Amino acid sequence: MKFMMYKAAGNDRLGVVDGDRVIDVAVCDPSLPKSLLALIEAGPGATSRVADAIDNAPPQARKKLSGLLPALPIERPGKFICVGLNYAAHAKEGGHAIPEYPSLFVRWPSSLVAAGEPVICPNCSEQLDYEAELTIVIGKGGRHIAEADALDHVFGYTLFNDVSVRDFQRKSNQWTPGKNFDGTGPLGPVVVTADELPPGASGLRITSRVNGETRQDSNTADMIFSTAKIIAILSQFMTLEAGDVIATGTPSGVAHARTPPAWMKPGDRVEVEVEGIGILSNPVVAES
Ligand code: MG
Repeated sequence: MKFMMYKAAGNDRLGVVDGDRVIDVAVCDPSLPKSLLALIEAGPGATSRVADAIDNAPPQARKKLSGLLPALPIERPGKFICVGLNYAAHAKEGGHAIPEYPSLFVRWPSSLVAAGEPVICPNCSEQLDYEAELTIVIGKGGRHIAEADALDHVFGYTLFNDVSVRDFQRKSNQWTPGKNFDGTGPLGPVVVTADELPPGASGLRITSRVNGETRQDSNTADMIFSTAKIIAILSQFMTLEAGDVIATGTPSGVAHARTPPAWMKPGDRVEVEVEGIGILSNPVVAES
């Protein structure tokens, strides 16, 4: 199934995407979880109940996808972990060695924006860069998860644009500032359940575009650390929980590695696409 949260008067609502329609889960059965996070936390039985409920969706539960504003699929993830340098060509273009252990950093929810919301180009930098990333949503939590069992812990996959303020990322060898500017983390709009994609979401074309021009074009099969390996590595040192989000790194073609650098600027539109998941599209606006 393809889940999305969308904006409505009052609270955001949980929907299931069905072609050009979105089925409002609560209209089908008000006893079902009201958010994607609550659904994931409720376990696989709840997802099966949603599948049954939408099979019998009343007409008023079906809304036009084009008429809805996406919300963040998970508004405040318990953990938002990012893997850096997970494609060999991208590590090389940034002057980094191929890592033997993943570069890990974190995002805070204050940096996240939904699909369609503005990416904020800060006043203090001109080095605004894009990064298309396949992103894991954890279903079943755990610690010391074996690589062989890791894919059983995935609820689904979504899209992330790890928009980076490069000069701030490179002010020290800790990337926290350049990866956490407000309004620099587009996430969503949909979460596709793992059963609808190849194991580990491997072998999928991943691209980014700025104003329609392709900037990154690669395949998730080229990830140095696979989905399963990333989960095993992370759970070796911390407990993963339902609804945790893990961005798996970006391929080559980012703005800072181009000659001359092709930074994003206000007025641009940036898109991330992964085959089988969809498109994440956001405008870029100046900080006010
Ligand atoms: Mg990244």
